[in-house]
Amino acid sequence: MIPWRMPGNGSTVADRTVPYFWPFFSRSARLMSSTAIVWFRRDLRLADNPALSAALKAHTSVIPVFMADDADDPWAPGGASMAWLHRSLIALNAALSRLGSRLIVRDGPADNALDAMIAETGADAVYWNRLYDPHTRRRDETLKRRWRERGLDARSFNGNLLIEPWEVETGTGNPYKVFTPFWRNASQRIPGREPYTKPRNLKPPTKWPETLPIEALALAPRIRWDDGFWEVFTPGEEGAHAALRRFRRGAITGYHEMRDVPADDGVSQLSAHLHFGEISPLAVWNGAGSAPGAPPVDVEHFQRELGWREFAHHVLYHFDRTPTEPLNAKYRNFPWRDGHEPLLAAWQRGQTGIPLVDAGMRQLWQTGWMHNRVRMVVASFLVKNIRAPWLDGARWFWDTLVDGDLASNTLGWQWAAGCGADAAPYFRVFNPVLQSKKFDKAGDYIRRFVPELSQLDSKAIHEPWLHSGAGFSPGKDYPLPIVDLKTSREEALAALAALDPSKQSAKT
Ligand code: FAD
Repeated sequence: MIPWRMPGNGSTVADRTVPYFWPFFSRSARLMSSTAIVWFRRDLRLADNPALSAALKAHTSVIPVFMADDADDPWAPGGASMAWLHRSLIALNAALSRLGSRLIVRDGPADNALDAMIAETGADAVYWNRLYDPHTRRRDETLKRRWRERGLDARSFNGNLLIEPWEVETGTGNPYKVFTPFWRNASQRIPGREPYTKPRNLKPPTKWPETLPIEALALAPRIRWDDGFWEVFTPGEEGAHAALRRFRRGAITGYHEMRDVPADDGVSQLSAHLHFGEISPLAVWNGAGSAPGAPPVDVEHFQRELGWREFAHHVLYHFDRTPTEPLNAKYRNFPWRDGHEPLLAAWQRGQTGIPLVDAGMRQLWQTGWMHNRVRMVVASFLVKNIRAPWLDGARWFWDTLVDGDLASNTLGWQWAAGCGADAAPYFRVFNPVLQSKKFDKAGDYIRRFVPELSQLDSKAIHEPWLHSGAGFSPGKDYPLPIVDLKTSREEALAALAALDPSKQSAKT
């Protein structure tokens, strides 16, 4: 027996059995006058927003709501993400205002705050787009059950992924742990539809509920350490579409080669826009697929990278302990370096004495983003040469990345540490000097972020400790390497062998 809620008047008739023609009846009743709350979370856009589109179809008025609700979330947004979120909410509110609507902002916890708003507004429905991190999933499942038991039209949609985590499985009915077979299967199932267009107007309710100003959420930093971010990024739906347009016009051509060159603008820089849902993955997928003149090899490679984002969510959904525990349990007892803390601090500050690593860590600090190739190099350096726990690195990234995403960050760090899904074998230790010589040959990326090395030529810049003279003094003008690359690599391999003697043969 489903309790039934009288449309519009806020009362619940718990003892009334729902008739078999309920969906038709409820829809036509609601069409007379009904209000839906659209709960915005990390889908901060109007175009291709399935929850918003469905609410507009089924209800006469829509109340867009954002709840600050992370008090008990172990992965509440880090500082850089909060700074982005602040601007993204302002952009969303402005976009809603242009359509005669507005964003209602409340402080959580979401269950109490939304219940209060349902009672206040007499809303008949709450619609939202699904998220997949364990904390949010548990909360949303509880709320959906509770609201439905009360007869509320509580519905969630897929607005954040191309393929939901449960839509693909291996031949034996298990989740995938390896990317290639995952993608072979998942890429066949991507919806062929066009993204939903932006609504032209949003019918407001007869009376707006009260709202907090966005500033009251205290998301923006008081000390403006984030100024450098906004020289690179423009949070919000318009900024996201502008980034996609730029990419379609330019960097998509040659992407499969240039995506590895950090000095070049060879990538889309869409990750934070995707994380906050300012653009849908389907809009990005289709946008790449229809980019005029883009070579198929580049389009396919780019779409495959979107596939890694899907894979990351698949893994997080099915293995929800991975944000803190290695997927491969063997690595639980890995002997991290005793007293690694000062080395970790040098890594965080971009003072390791390894130019490519320092350039990456400083790019992260200055812009809130780091190039993927360099993310792999700095992560490998932290877990293998410094031998600090991968979770220390993941937490630093979480706090400093504007695109900090639990699924992708966890996958990336466990990949680098060799303990996750489709991970790099532990014995394959990136040599940051060789990586630097290969992917930043002329040293332009290093020069941009490590200005104290800018006078060195393209040969010396990768190993400044070998070069002195011409006004440059290693150890004085720039730190000497905090670890010896050869010895630390051998120590990492020995630590692995101690963990699992079968790995000893992998040293060669
Ligand atoms: P593009 O090359 O233009 O790729 C397009 C999109 O594909 C990206 O925006 C992203 O959504 C997706 N994508 C690309 N590569 C990956 C990947 N390896 N894994 C998952 N998705 C991918 N990405 C995040 O979005 N958030 C994170 O917190 C994050 N942490 C990472 C940590 C480590 C240690 C590593 C090695 C990688 C991490 N990545 C993370 C993945 C990747 O580095 C970024 O997605 C990418 O650099 C973003 O730049 P872009 O948008 O220009 O990418």
